[in-house]
Amino acid sequence: MRLSFYGATRTVTGSKFLLEACGQRILVDCGLFQGLKDLRLRNWQAPPVRPGSIDAIVLTHAHIDHTGYLPRFVSQGFEGPIYATPATVDLLKILLPDAGYLQEEEARYRNKYKLSKHSPALPLYTIEDAEAVLKFLRPLPYRQVHELARGFDFQFLPAGHILGSSFIQFHEDGTQEKTVLFTGDIGRYNQPIIKDPSVVERADYLVLESTYGNRLHGDKNGKSGRDQLRDVIVQTARRGGPVLIPSFAVGRAQEVLYLLRELEEEKLIPVLPVFVDSPMAVDAFDVFQAHGEEHDLEMIRIKKSGVNPLYTRNTRFVRSVQESKNINDRSSAIIISANGMATGGRILHHLIHRLPDERNSIVFVGFQAAGTRGRTLAEGAREVKIFGVNYPVRASVHVIDGFSAHGDYNEILRWLRGFKAAPRKTFLVHGEPNAIEGMKNQIVTNFEGWQVEIPEYEQQYEL
Ligand SMILES: [Zn+2]
Repeated sequence: MRLSFYGATRTVTGSKFLLEACGQRILVDCGLFQGLKDLRLRNWQAPPVRPGSIDAIVLTHAHIDHTGYLPRFVSQGFEGPIYATPATVDLLKILLPDAGYLQEEEARYRNKYKLSKHSPALPLYTIEDAEAVLKFLRPLPYRQVHELARGFDFQFLPAGHILGSSFIQFHEDGTQEKTVLFTGDIGRYNQPIIKDPSVVERADYLVLESTYGNRLHGDKNGKSGRDQLRDVIVQTARRGGPVLIPSFAVGRAQEVLYLLRELEEEKLIPVLPVFVDSPMAVDAFDVFQAHGEEHDLEMIRIKKSGVNPLYTRNTRFVRSVQESKNINDRSSAIIISANGMATGGRILHHLIHRLPDERNSIVFVGFQAAGTRGRTLAEGAREVKIFGVNYPVRASVHVIDGFSAHGDYNEILRWLRGFKAAPRKTFLVHGEPNAIEGMKNQIVTNFEGWQVEIPEYEQQYEL
């Protein structure tokens, strides 16, 4: 067996790992590089492995940093099966065409403002390229063993990160039996809606994510995201203003609505109209409802009691632009709109209307990357530019850190304690350099006899 690393090495994006065994060449994840320019340029270079030489792709989950390179890979000659859990397949039907749209938008923007040295600037891929991927997707339920070659198989196990997320466990027979486990992203315990990460007792080789390898969740006072959200809503409702929540359409929007329903039921917040203003978020709600196999016991219990866990007393899904505009007249309300970092989408129109009024609140519930409008607001800017116009920031701006789909290092250590024996090697990926070093220290300090490796880009290991 041979394992090669073509992404997510000392960084959190671009996940791509090549596993070779029994004459098969299997690509695990096919993620897009995001963030720093040096990394993004890798998306434009020739693929690190010839797409036509790959027998199959297996995906841990639908996030773009694990799947967003697929349209490029397929357009350059890959035509094998792409295995993923049924929920991941359904989420990709929403996420990949949207990624194609964003690539086309970026190229249009570069051409309009002549920001590219290429004329014309081309998109990395198009909506059409993204849609071409969908016919290769093969849904495979959790814990169903799928044979790739005689004596070489894999199965998916729930990872608790987002709907459909999985660990992938490869198994090779032969003179010496071997298992290799890829964690993809590890989720959190007791997260709303989805199941906890599954217990894994052994793996000969472990490829482990380290996003929060040096950090713990929760605010300085240890207040949970739910409690922080409650406080902002109560204060803002007293002032008679709306609460505006910029949110990722898939995952976070559903989690926020679940928590709002809980807070309402426990009478911790007043019952307010809740608008979900994003066509993509509305589509994602259907996928969340349809995949009962993903739901945890709490979610199942609530459904059985006749309540829809993803609806508050007064939830309204907004698709049309006219309906979206009508929300502008609302005073007391909660508005969830995309995108989560306020770099584009309908949230911009809401910000234009809501930022200048001190009665209003803006609540960020996700990570704000450097250089985004969300980051500027989160850092306390008194003015922000939208569509070329400056708007004063008089609304109160809150950043809630408690929401994350990644386990922090304590949660990862808790998961690692499920192992009955040390893996022969543990490879740390999917973390910034400090996080990866932090995770390595945590493992070496807490577990005896674990061998930890930090692979470099394009590094290969014989297993
Ligand atoms: Zn992820």
